Amino acid sequence: MPSSSSAAVQPGTLFVVATPIGNLDDASPRARSTLQAVALIAAEDTRHTRTLLASWGIDTDMISLHEHNEEARIPGLLERLRSGEDLALVSDAGTPLLADPGYRLVRAVVAAGLPVRPIPGPCALVAALSASGLPTDRFLFAGFLPAKSGPRQAALAQLRSMASTLVFYETPHRIAAALADAAQVLGGEREAWVGRELTKRFETHYAGSLADLAQRFAAGEEEERGEFVLIIGGADASTPATEIDADAVLEALLAELPASKAAKVAAKLLDRPRQALFQRCLELTQRG
Ligand code: SAM
Repeated sequence: MPSSSSAAVQPGTLFVVATPIGNLDDASPRARSTLQAVALIAAEDTRHTRTLLASWGIDTDMISLHEHNEEARIPGLLERLRSGEDLALVSDAGTPLLADPGYRLVRAVVAAGLPVRPIPGPCALVAALSASGLPTDRFLFAGFLPAKSGPRQAALAQLRSMASTLVFYETPHRIAAALADAAQVLGGEREAWVGRELTKRFETHYAGSLADLAQRFAAGEEEERGEFVLIIGGADASTPATEIDADAVLEALLAELPASKAAKVAAKLLDRPRQALFQRCLELTQRG
């Protein structure tokens, strides 16, 4: 008989489990049985997930795993996987890692050569894309845009010449400002779509040009409470190329910062020499 110390322990699996984005019926039977079966669930907010699990009669042990403790949690979780325990990772809503914690843990588990399995399911960006009527063959998910207008315009300017459909998450108090900045930087004629409260009781879709949607939200004609996904059509072939994008980035930064700082930030964003960008800042400032 081999002694227990020499017997190879089969490592456990980390299951990355998608949970509902609003409608509890969207949880798959496999998601529920996995959350029931694992030894431990690492959850973005254990109180939130406890409520969800209670509605399904599941009382699996949990620990928190969020932005501020993810790194510190990794060694202990790797140890438990190595000892043969199966674990699950969930976030507050939808698919973990998508604008949610979990990337560092999954990366560490993969790097350690331990098994990871996705349990796919709800995800706001995929749900939105699937209903928006905008092209889905190529898209770029850019997460949340910056909170302040200058950096937000700079981030949008970087995406201006991309042919892919652009997908963003947005907060209720910034949706109007994001639409206004997008119309200004990307051009008001682009097709856009806003999905609010997807899968929930007050689900609403808004479609139109960026200028039209920006105007409707600015005028308070549309409901600004709830959760939002913003989708914008990609650039067409006639969209001006990179040289003008650099100007747009500089102009947006110059609205908030002195030329030296604007050049410094732009050099990082655009991966271009700072001195040349500083020179261009001076030209743009003089041009007024
Ligand atoms: N991991 C999640 C996923 O798979 O979609 C997203 C988490 S992210 C922190 C939360 C953001 O996703 C919200 O601010 C909103 O932009 C978007 N979102 C989540 N649920 C939504 C819903 N039901 N309708 C519209 N947008 C939603």
